[in-house]
Amino acid sequence: MLSLSRPASTVAKAARAVATLSLGAVMAFAGTVSAFAQGVPVVRDAEIEALVRDYARPIFKAAGLSSSNIQIVLVNDKSFNAFVAGRRLFINTGALMQSETPNEIIGVIAHEAGHLAGGHQDKLREQLDRAKTMAIVASLLGVGAIAAGAATNSKGLAGAGMGLAAGGGEMAQRSLLSYQRGEEITADRSAITYLNATGQSGMGMLKTFQRFQSALSLSGAQIDPYRISHPMPQDRISNLEELVKKSPYRDKTDPPALQQRHDMMRVKIAAYLDGQAAVSRLIRRKLDPLAAKYGEAQVAYLYGNLASSLTQADALIKAQPKNPYFHELRGDILMKANRPKDAATAYAKAVRLDPAKSGILPVSYGQALLAQGTPDSLKKAVAQIESGLARDRENGAAYRYLAQAYGEQGDVAKAELATAEGYFYSGAFRDAKIFAMRAQKSLKRGEPAWLRAQDIINFGPAKSN
Ligand SMILES: [Zn+2]
Repeated sequence: MLSLSRPASTVAKAARAVATLSLGAVMAFAGTVSAFAQGVPVVRDAEIEALVRDYARPIFKAAGLSSSNIQIVLVNDKSFNAFVAGRRLFINTGALMQSETPNEIIGVIAHEAGHLAGGHQDKLREQLDRAKTMAIVASLLGVGAIAAGAATNSKGLAGAGMGLAAGGGEMAQRSLLSYQRGEEITADRSAITYLNATGQSGMGMLKTFQRFQSALSLSGAQIDPYRISHPMPQDRISNLEELVKKSPYRDKTDPPALQQRHDMMRVKIAAYLDGQAAVSRLIRRKLDPLAAKYGEAQVAYLYGNLASSLTQADALIKAQPKNPYFHELRGDILMKANRPKDAATAYAKAVRLDPAKSGILPVSYGQALLAQGTPDSLKKAVAQIESGLARDRENGAAYRYLAQAYGEQGDVAKAELATAEGYFYSGAFRDAKIFAMRAQKSLKRGEPAWLRAQDIINFGPAKSN
């Protein structure tokens, strides 16, 4: 299940975030949770996060960057953007959709790893401090592009976005250009080193960058933030071409199994974020046959034909019994069909089969257990959701289900603490404090839950304004 974590009144908040975020606050993005609530629409999905992590892991290793705990942050935005901040790799769904092969996006990740390994991020921070331009920040976060492309969303935000896109983009480009040329060439060179070390071609990166160089990357009013932060002068492209040609892996293509996962990811994003027509469009073009079936099953699940989607999910499972995400889809369908017991069985399989040990799947499993509502299933639900949260503390939605499970068990204090956590991780600190204080009333002073409530109460608001 691909889910969107959109903070309440996202549009208004995004507009405010653009207006008030200080540069310091943004660069601290990697370390704080509050930024998630500041208008960046984050997509959570076990399958896609695992795939992107699989793309990044060998590259990060080759770059000498610790890859043990890279967090993949998927941003729901049709424009192309990808950047690394701290231990987080931010990647727009648009970048994944625009990449027809794993190699194309892996090349971009390699380039970003090159920036990180080269310490370029530190310099960027200095530049940002000096330039104090919100446009750069908005570009980095893709907020400017969201705004520019969001005429359908809200007039206010679209207006703000237009300003950013028109004036800000150019300003950002000018101030970045002054130092960027050298660093881009360095990052390109590093990227090729990492790709060679992992036996992968640089052709995908070249293809992506060539696309940015041409006018084709401008689709309507949408401006790709990556294009703004990555000027592609001809000498840079020529340098890159030379490097790619020299690589012994120049003509190497992605393993078919990886291409299949890539296609499954794209068709899933299309189904959830772009609708039925987008899936059909994707299938009509070249797509792995099983991925095409996956897309059709997702469409049937999302747009109403549950019986047919269940048949299709079963066929997918027959083709790949060990694919955890097929079992996850089966669970999603059964939940929608109001069959929580069968859904729980499907999710349990997904959890067991998931090599990436995503924190998202146990939460889905917990939801199905919660929906059964028996004392035994509630107990199991708490255990599953807690285990999911132990792997992934920032899954804001999970706390809602946890609170519900505790509530139905009659454990009011734990329910309130879970609610406080949920608010905390979605950036609603005031509500988080209210519930943390409520929880403390029924908790024993000094016990772990009491201490956690105290942490939330003590948490200071980011002094960014
Ligand atoms: Zn770059």
